[in-house]
Amino acid sequence: MDYGLNEQQNEIIALAAQLAQEKIKPVREHCDQAEEFPWSVVEEIRKADLFGVYLPEKYGGMGGGAVDLCLAVEQLSRVCGGIALCLAGSALGTMPILLFGSEAQRRQWLPDLASGKKLAAFALTEAEAGSDATAIKTSAKLDGDHYILNGTKSFITGGEVSQIYTIFATTNPARGARGIGAFVVEKGTPGFTFGKKETKMGIRANPTYELHFKDCRIPKANLLYKEGYGLFVAQNTLDMSRTGVGAQAIGIAQGALDEALAYVRVRKQFGQPVASLPVISHMIADCASAIESSRALIYSTAKAMAAAMAPAFEAAFDKGTVVFDEMHALKIRRYTKESAMCKVVASDMAMKVTTDCVQMCGGVGYMRDFPVEKFMRDAKITQIYEGTNQIQRNEIAAMVIKEAASKDRVKG
Ligand SMILES: Cc1cc2nc3c(=O)[nH]c(=O)nc-3n(C[C@H](O)[C@H](O)[C@H](O)COP(=O)(O)OP(=O)(O)OC[C@H]3O[C@@H](n4cnc5c(N)ncnc54)[C@H](O)[C@@H]3O)c2cc1C
Repeated sequence: MDYGLNEQQNEIIALAAQLAQEKIKPVREHCDQAEEFPWSVVEEIRKADLFGVYLPEKYGGMGGGAVDLCLAVEQLSRVCGGIALCLAGSALGTMPILLFGSEAQRRQWLPDLASGKKLAAFALTEAEAGSDATAIKTSAKLDGDHYILNGTKSFITGGEVSQIYTIFATTNPARGARGIGAFVVEKGTPGFTFGKKETKMGIRANPTYELHFKDCRIPKANLLYKEGYGLFVAQNTLDMSRTGVGAQAIGIAQGALDEALAYVRVRKQFGQPVASLPVISHMIADCASAIESSRALIYSTAKAMAAAMAPAFEAAFDKGTVVFDEMHALKIRRYTKESAMCKVVASDMAMKVTTDCVQMCGGVGYMRDFPVEKFMRDAKITQIYEGTNQIQRNEIAAMVIKEAASKDRVKG
C-alpha cells in the first residue's frame, strides 16, 4: 500500500528493516531467553542514527516526527518487539522534554538522546498508582535551589540501562492531580537507586525495574514546565507516544505473520501445504487484512498529528519557547482520542493475529525454538502499558459521547 511517505521515511523503513534482519534477528532468541539488554543492537541503532528520527535537527535529530518514529519502531518490532523498545521506550522518556522543556533543557538533554549516547525512561507508575495516575505518592519538596525526591516507581521500562529519567512526583499532595510535577533525574544522582528487576512474559530483552528515591536532591532547574502540570505533561506525552505502541503492535503482528507464512507454505499435511487448506488460507487473509487496516489508522493518525504539531515545534525552536505553550497559543488540539484508538485497535489486533499465527503453525508454533510464540508473548504488553485498553476505551467513549452531545447542542 502506498501511504505517500517521503523519501526520508522510505529510507528509515529500509534502514530499520535491514538492521533488524542483520543485527537483531541473530540475538533476539538469546536476549529473550536470558532477559538480556542488547547493547550491541543499541550501538547499531546509534550508528544508523535512528534514535533521533523524530527529533528536530536543531538538537541533533533527523528532523522527522511521529510518523518517522512509528516507521522505525514498526520495522524493529517486526523482528523483536522487546529489542525495539530500546528506541520506543527511550522516545517515551524523551517526549516530555521535547514537549515541555525550556530551550535550556532541550539543549541540555536532547542532543545525547538524539544520538543515542544516552537512553531515556518515563516513570509515572507506582504500586498503588497504575491506571489511576493521580494517586502517585512519590514526593518532590522544594528546598532552596533543589527538589528532594522520595518514593518508589514500579514497572519502569528501560530501568537501569537508561541515563535520563522523566519522573512524576507530587509537589503538593493537597492539590491531588493538580499538585504533580514532572522532573528529569539523571542516573547516578545520589539517592536514586534501582530496586527489583521484573521477570516478564514478553518483551524480555528490555529490563523493567523499580526505581527508588531516598532524599534524592535534584537541581530546581530539572523541573519540566511548572509545578502542578505534571499530569498534563504525562497525558500530552502519551497522546503522542500511543501511536508508537500501535506501531510496535503492527510490527509484532507482521513479524508473526512473516514467520508463520514461511512455515505454512512448506509444511505439508494430507499431501498439500497447510497454507492451501481453506481454513488456514482464510486465517492468513484475515491476519493480513487486520494488520493493514491498523497500519492505515496509525500512519494516518501519526501524519495528521505531526502536521498539526509542526507549527508549534517550528515556533518554539525559532523563538526558544516551550512547545506546549506554542500549541496552546496556536490552538492546536490534542490527539488523545485518535492515539487511544490506534493503541486499542492495533494491540487487540496484534494479540489476535499472533495467537492465530501460533494456531496456524500447530505444535511447532507453541515451541520456544520457533519464534512465533515469542511474538504472541510480546504482543500482550501492548494491550497493557501506556494505559490499559480498558482505560483507553473509557477515554474514547467519553470523548465520542461528548462530541455527540455538543453536535446536538449546535443543532438545538
Ligand atoms: C512490562 C511493563 C512495562 C511498563 N513500563 C512502564 C513505564 O515505562 N513507565 C510507567 O510509568 N509505567 C509502566 N508500566 C505500567 C503500566 O502503564 C501499568 O501497568 C498500566 O497502566 C496498568 O496499571 P496497573 O498495572 O496498576 O493495573 P491496574 O490499574 O491495577 O488495573 C487492573 C485491571 O483493572 C482495569 N481497570 C482499572 N481501572 C479501571 C477503570 N477505571 N475502568 C476499567 N478498567 C479498569 C485495568 O484495565 C486492568 O485490567 C509498565 C507495565 C508493564 C507490565
